[in-house]
Amino acid sequence: MSAFYREKVLAVRHWTDTLFSFRATRDSGFRFQNGQFAMIGLEVEGRPLLRAYSMASANHEEELEFFSIKVADGPLTSKLQKIREGDEILVGRKATGTLITDNLIPGKRLLLLSTGTGLAPFASLIKDPDVYERFETIVLVHGCRQVSELAYGEELVAKLREDELFGPLLSEKLLYYPTVTREPFRNRGRITDLISSEQLFNDIHQPPLNIETDRIMMCGSPGMLEELKQMFESGGFLEGSHNTPGHFVIEKAFVER
Ligand SMILES: Cc1cc2nc3c(=O)[nH]c(=O)nc-3n(C[C@H](O)[C@H](O)[C@H](O)COP(=O)(O)OP(=O)(O)OC[C@H]3O[C@@H](n4cnc5c(N)ncnc54)[C@H](O)[C@@H]3O)c2cc1C
Repeated sequence: MSAFYREKVLAVRHWTDTLFSFRATRDSGFRFQNGQFAMIGLEVEGRPLLRAYSMASANHEEELEFFSIKVADGPLTSKLQKIREGDEILVGRKATGTLITDNLIPGKRLLLLSTGTGLAPFASLIKDPDVYERFETIVLVHGCRQVSELAYGEELVAKLREDELFGPLLSEKLLYYPTVTREPFRNRGRITDLISSEQLFNDIHQPPLNIETDRIMMCGSPGMLEELKQMFESGGFLEGSHNTPGHFVIEKAFVER
């Protein structure tokens, strides 16, 4: 048995000159937990060229969706950004990752903190009815440099608000907070600053960070994750893993090479 499935690209959408998303068929045998990632990629000169990608679709969906960066000289994404409907992609059979609700101690408010393509695992998690059962409030924060980079997340949330099943859940429980660092926008600033200054909580009319009630998932650049981790740990928050659930869990959105 091959280590990966061969799936067909069903649709590709380019959001900016550095971001695109695509949908693909999903083998009925491909199982994952919302928030997890798999190795995906292309066959190049007869060999698999694979990278880690979070599933942006939820595990109850028939198709797979991914939200991707375009790195001009990136071995995979210089090619992947050219895929079209009907092309073949490879999807590793095994999904894994720490951004799953079982790795968190039960709580009341779930903070999903992301930058850039780090939104992808949370796109999956906000389509998971179980997340709305476990938490009273879910705060989805997405930080980008430019307003145009928010478009994928903005459309995702807008569509879910119109959805028959998720619309009522979102209006009751989800607070969406997009923020931009390099252009004028209604919310501005880096996630670390927005949390330490409590600006985020003031803006969404929520109580400040509280270890008794808050659970956190974060996915973004390695630098941002390191800063956030230090900030939360200095407040007594413990990192969770598969063996030991904690107050927060982390996944890198990419690795610096
Ligand atoms: C657990 C995990 C999950 C991931 N999920 C996703 C995902 O859902 N979507 C996605 O686009 N990428 C994701 N990545 C990154 C992905 O694995 C690749 O790095 C990316 O597709 C670029 O591949 P490449 O071969 O073109 O360039 P690479 O050689 O892999 O990367 C070259 C450089 O580009 C930069 N870079 C790579 N990926 C990103 C990114 N996503 N955002 C900003 N800068 C980046 C880094 O500086 C990196 O050193 C994930 C990585 C990890 C570890």
